Amino acid sequence: MDEAKTLQYYKLFENMSRLITTPEVFQREAFIKVLVDICKLFNIAKGTTSIYKSEALESRGEGEFICDYDNGHGDKLVLEKRIVTKYGYIIVGKLYASNDAVTLTSDELDKLSIIELSLLAFIGRNRMQEALEKIGYYDEFNYPNLRFYFRTLDKLNYEGKLPGMSAMHFNIRQLSIYNRELGRNQADIAMRNYYNVFVDIIGSEGTICRLGGDNFIGIFRKDRFEKIVSAIAGTPVSFSADLTKQIVMSSCAGIYHIPEDFVYEGPDQIISKIMFASQSAKQQGTSDYMVFDKEMTGIREKMLTIQTLFPQALKNKEFKVYYQPKVNILTGEIVGAEALCRWFHNGKMISPADFIPVLEQKTDICKLDLYMLDLVCKDIRRWLDTGMPHIRVSVNLSRKNLMDINLLDKVIEIIDGNNVPHKYIEIELTETTTDVEFRDLKRVANGLQQQGICTSVDDFGVGYSSLNLIREIPWNVLKIDRCFLPSDEDNEYSNTPIMYKHVIEMAQEIGLECITEGVETAKQIEILRANKCHIAQGFYFDRPLPVEEFDKRLKQRFYEI
Ligand code: C2E
Ligand code: MG
Ligand code: MG
Repeated sequence: MDEAKTLQYYKLFENMSRLITTPEVFQREAFIKVLVDICKLFNIAKGTTSIYKSEALESRGEGEFICDYDNGHGDKLVLEKRIVTKYGYIIVGKLYASNDAVTLTSDELDKLSIIELSLLAFIGRNRMQEALEKIGYYDEFNYPNLRFYFRTLDKLNYEGKLPGMSAMHFNIRQLSIYNRELGRNQADIAMRNYYNVFVDIIGSEGTICRLGGDNFIGIFRKDRFEKIVSAIAGTPVSFSADLTKQIVMSSCAGIYHIPEDFVYEGPDQIISKIMFASQSAKQQGTSDYMVFDKEMTGIREKMLTIQTLFPQALKNKEFKVYYQPKVNILTGEIVGAEALCRWFHNGKMISPADFIPVLEQKTDICKLDLYMLDLVCKDIRRWLDTGMPHIRVSVNLSRKNLMDINLLDKVIEIIDGNNVPHKYIEIELTETTTDVEFRDLKRVANGLQQQGICTSVDDFGVGYSSLNLIREIPWNVLKIDRCFLPSDEDNEYSNTPIMYKHVIEMAQEIGLECITEGVETAKQIEILRANKCHIAQGFYFDRPLPVEEFDKRLKQRFYEI
């Protein structure tokens, strides 16, 4: 090699090294130009690279083939290099010259070899990065994942673009129903198309990632808000490959408009807000989305306080049982009671409506429910030991408990540990919203019944209690919510009395005990009597009472009627 050629070789080699060792300066066009220049310098007519994921695939020739350069005269193989990367990828580079080209000297071949090996190592490293990127930043269905989202937030923050953007979390409505009705594959296609609607709206300045299941999380420019909201409310998407069959898919979302003076401290700062807003939207149930605002900040702080105080409060025995009598309206006799929780903190009583939904956000509620069951068992044991009337007490179990596979054992352990016969315990459960929960509910209710523990459907009539709930699970008691009970204001045109009548008839015909909750007036007692529902629970007799007060009622045993 003459001096000028050697000099040019070193220049090209240095250029190539700089491009492949510093990712910040890597430019595809510049890289290809260097490769072409190198080929020309050594009279190389064609250069190819083959990439195989394993030796087995290499032996079958199944891999990826790239032709880096080809001037149409590459007939003779002049150099072949093969490397195996640390993670098993095999990369083979081949260089060809034309038949009439001057044979390369051994010095020239050495120089080419170094270049070829550097290139193969570079490709190997890139492949690794791609593979790692795939594993680290995408889920098994090829949706970008939470880590991808974090990285996007970091990048936007680095570029100073976060203020003025909006973040969102959404949950697709009724995906489990689509799964059941359309089949999993079709529902997956519909979900992917729904996702793509958001990708199109968001464009390149933002992202949308999948958290898992039917939960997605996104960040987008605020001027896309209207379109995003409209996609959340519902948008037609096809679920067949030929695009002919469509459904309208919608979701429930929480959105946070990142303020102009926002100082980014980490992803949790944004995620906790959109999750909270979307949970609030779901609970509230009437709108498709909620925007995180000042008022929500207050509510969230209250919630966090409750969640923080809870463990110590449980240890300090701040939770007490109140008992609300269940009364036979024909005789006035107390035939049972419902145990309801009250929290005494710093001399004030907090009502369940304020803390139960908060504890239900996590599994704290399960600890509380079992703690309540234990207190109730201790009272029942005391009543049995002191010759008080024997009554059955119902305890509320949040549906959060249902997924606990050991729930039944835990319940039995508490009841047996207090030496209480099973027939004195009734467990109140409410309807469920998803298929999975329904299956768990069925399993728990059946398990309790096999142990001789009564089960009741609480709040029947609230929400969307379906008749399936009654048909598929063998309950003992139906607790009809006060919303089904005609009020004193109901007139002859109201449907409530008709529904109330038929619900009771149906329940009794299939052998369920019926009790009406929230009975407040003498007129309502008359309605119960007329409809042959003979057990009532409500303020008409008593509010939930502290145990000392309830002891007194139990001793008297009868209300005057
Ligand atoms: P629930 O199980 O349906 O309990 C009945 C609720 O109706 C009680 O509210 C009771 O005080 C109220 N109530 C009873 N009679 C009347 C009436 O005549 N008129 C009116 N307006 N209301 C009446 P409370 O004690 O505030 O409890 C609210 C809910 O909190 C309960 O509804 C139950 O879902 C939940 N809860 C209470 N204690 C526990 C517990 O230990 N564990 C769980 N998981 N949930 C509980
Ligand atoms: Mg209840
Ligand atoms: Mg109830």
